[in-house]
Amino acid sequence: MFLEPNVNKSKTGWIEVVCGSMFSGKTEELIRRLKRAKIANLKVEIFKPAIDIRYNETHVVSHDSNIISSTPVSSSQNILLLSSDVDVVGIDEAQFFDEGLPEVCEQLAKRGIRVIIAGLDMDFVGRPFGPIPALLAKAEYITKVHAICVRCGSLANHSYRLVESDVKVLLGEKESYEPRCRECFTKGMETSDQ
Ligand code: ZN
Repeated sequence: MFLEPNVNKSKTGWIEVVCGSMFSGKTEELIRRLKRAKIANLKVEIFKPAIDIRYNETHVVSHDSNIISSTPVSSSQNILLLSSDVDVVGIDEAQFFDEGLPEVCEQLAKRGIRVIIAGLDMDFVGRPFGPIPALLAKAEYITKVHAICVRCGSLANHSYRLVESDVKVLLGEKESYEPRCRECFTKGMETSDQ
């Protein structure tokens, strides 16, 4: 389990990334860290891309309905403007943000802010997703979380799309995706009927 380095000691910023497939508990882990920061009396702001409107306009909601207030923003630049006077910034569904997000996170860290990012590391065909690869390169701390493959019970790192569509961003996850291990994901991609 991730333990915070010198949370309250000095005003030094850093970047954490929590990544993995769908159903891997990324948002739950983000919420756990943000709640701990709140308990430590740190000022926390949470952002998500305005595109992610699956459950609720103004809350980060994990699949177990663990709710925490958040602000939807249309561009990563808005996060800079809205993050004055905060200690910790949380960013959920970061894969849907624009390519400016890594630079924004660096700017926040330079200001002394702890930045915690949660996002999908790969899209439904296994390609690195949006700004996540650059964030992984720039982060001090990376946590890769795993789901369980619904086909064989191994650790899953892929989000397998069950419906026919070439659209990269397809929301409404539970019906449309399942977590799969590398082997079961590859089998499914090779024979579209599995
Ligand atoms: Zn499997």
